[in-house]
Amino acid sequence: MICRCGHVFQTMRNGQSTREFRDAFCLIPNREYRKFLKWEIKAMEADTEEKRLRALGKSSAMVGNLTECPSCGRILLQLPDSDEIECLVRERAARQTRPRRHSRT
Ligand SMILES: [Zn+2]
Repeated sequence: MICRCGHVFQTMRNGQSTREFRDAFCLIPNREYRKFLKWEIKAMEADTEEKRLRALGKSSAMVGNLTECPSCGRILLQLPDSDEIECLVRERAARQTRPRRHSRT
Protein backbone atom coordinates (compact mmCIF):
# COMPACT_ATOMS: atom_id res chain seq x y z
CA MET A 1 0.00 0.00 0.00
CA ILE A 2 1.33 3.43 -0.95
CA CYS A 3 0.07 6.75 0.46
CA ARG A 4 -0.45 9.83 -1.69
CA CYS A 5 2.54 11.40 0.08
CA GLY A 6 4.72 8.57 -1.23
CA HIS A 7 5.08 6.58 1.99
CA VAL A 8 5.28 2.86 1.23
CA PHE A 9 3.74 0.67 3.92
CA GLN A 10 5.66 -2.46 4.80
CA THR A 11 3.85 -5.35 6.42
CA MET A 12 6.89 -7.53 7.12
CA ARG A 13 10.52 -6.83 7.96
CA ASN A 14 13.05 -9.55 8.78
CA GLY A 15 10.26 -12.10 9.07
CA GLN A 16 8.36 -10.00 11.65
CA SER A 17 5.25 -7.88 11.16
CA THR A 18 6.08 -4.19 11.24
CA ARG A 19 4.60 -1.67 13.65
CA GLU A 20 2.75 -0.12 10.69
CA PHE A 21 1.05 -3.46 10.13
CA ARG A 22 0.26 -4.04 13.82
CA ASP A 23 -1.21 -0.54 14.26
CA ALA A 24 -3.57 -0.92 11.27
CA PHE A 25 -7.17 -2.13 11.60
CA CYS A 26 -8.75 -5.03 9.76
CA LEU A 27 -12.19 -4.30 8.32
CA ILE A 28 -14.65 -7.07 7.69
CA PRO A 29 -18.07 -6.21 6.29
CA ASN A 30 -20.86 -7.30 8.64
CA ARG A 31 -22.51 -9.27 5.85
CA GLU A 32 -19.33 -11.35 5.41
CA TYR A 33 -18.39 -11.79 9.08
CA ARG A 34 -19.88 -15.26 9.64
CA LYS A 35 -18.36 -16.51 6.40
CA PHE A 36 -15.01 -14.99 7.45
CA LEU A 37 -15.17 -16.85 10.78
CA LYS A 38 -16.05 -20.09 9.02
CA TRP A 39 -12.89 -19.88 6.88
CA GLU A 40 -10.74 -18.91 9.88
CA ILE A 41 -11.99 -21.95 11.80
CA LYS A 42 -11.33 -24.16 8.78
CA ALA A 43 -7.78 -22.78 8.67
CA MET A 44 -7.23 -23.60 12.35
CA GLU A 45 -8.64 -27.11 11.95
CA ALA A 46 -6.93 -27.92 8.64
CA ASP A 47 -4.97 -31.15 8.64
CA THR A 48 -2.69 -30.13 5.76
CA GLU A 49 -0.76 -26.97 4.97
CA GLU A 50 -2.48 -26.76 1.58
CA LYS A 51 -5.95 -26.74 3.18
CA ARG A 52 -4.82 -24.20 5.80
CA LEU A 53 -3.46 -21.80 3.18
CA ARG A 54 -6.56 -22.19 1.01
CA ALA A 55 -8.82 -21.31 3.94
CA LEU A 56 -6.65 -18.33 4.92
CA GLY A 57 -6.76 -17.12 1.33
CA LYS A 58 -10.56 -17.20 1.42
CA SER A 59 -10.81 -15.36 4.75
CA SER A 60 -8.16 -12.75 3.97
CA ALA A 61 -9.97 -11.82 0.73
CA MET A 62 -12.84 -10.61 2.96
CA VAL A 63 -10.64 -8.27 4.99
CA GLY A 64 -10.06 -4.60 4.24
CA ASN A 65 -7.62 -2.28 5.93
CA LEU A 66 -7.74 1.05 7.74
CA THR A 67 -4.50 2.72 8.72
CA GLU A 68 -2.93 6.09 9.38
CA CYS A 69 0.06 7.15 7.34
CA PRO A 70 2.95 7.76 9.76
CA SER A 71 4.43 10.35 7.40
CA CYS A 72 1.47 12.65 6.63
CA GLY A 73 -1.35 11.52 8.96
CA ARG A 74 -3.82 10.66 6.19
CA ILE A 75 -6.27 7.87 6.97
CA LEU A 76 -6.14 5.24 4.27
CA LEU A 77 -9.04 2.89 3.57
CA GLN A 78 -8.64 -0.21 1.46
CA LEU A 79 -11.86 -2.17 0.98
CA PRO A 80 -11.76 -5.97 0.88
CA ASP A 81 -10.63 -7.55 -2.36
CA SER A 82 -9.68 -4.19 -3.84
CA ASP A 83 -6.42 -2.57 -4.86
CA GLU A 84 -7.86 0.94 -4.61
CA ILE A 85 -6.87 3.12 -1.68
CA GLU A 86 -9.20 5.88 -0.50
CA CYS A 87 -7.85 8.74 1.61
CA LEU A 88 -10.17 9.98 4.34
CA VAL A 89 -9.98 13.44 5.87
CA ARG A 90 -10.00 13.71 9.64
CA GLU A 91 -12.72 15.91 11.14
CA ARG A 92 -10.04 18.13 12.67
CA ALA A 93 -8.52 18.76 9.23
CA ALA A 94 -11.97 19.16 7.66
CA ARG A 95 -12.83 21.92 10.14
CA GLN A 96 -9.69 23.78 9.16
CA THR A 97 -10.62 23.70 5.49
CA ARG A 98 -14.32 24.61 5.97
CA PRO A 99 -15.07 27.85 4.11
CA ARG A 100 -15.53 30.89 6.30
CA ARG A 101 -18.81 32.72 6.40
CA HIS A 102 -18.66 36.23 5.10
CA SER A 103 -20.80 38.86 6.77
CA ARG A 104 -22.80 41.20 4.58
CA THR A 105 -22.09 44.88 4.97
ZN1 LIG B 1 1.14 9.74 3.74
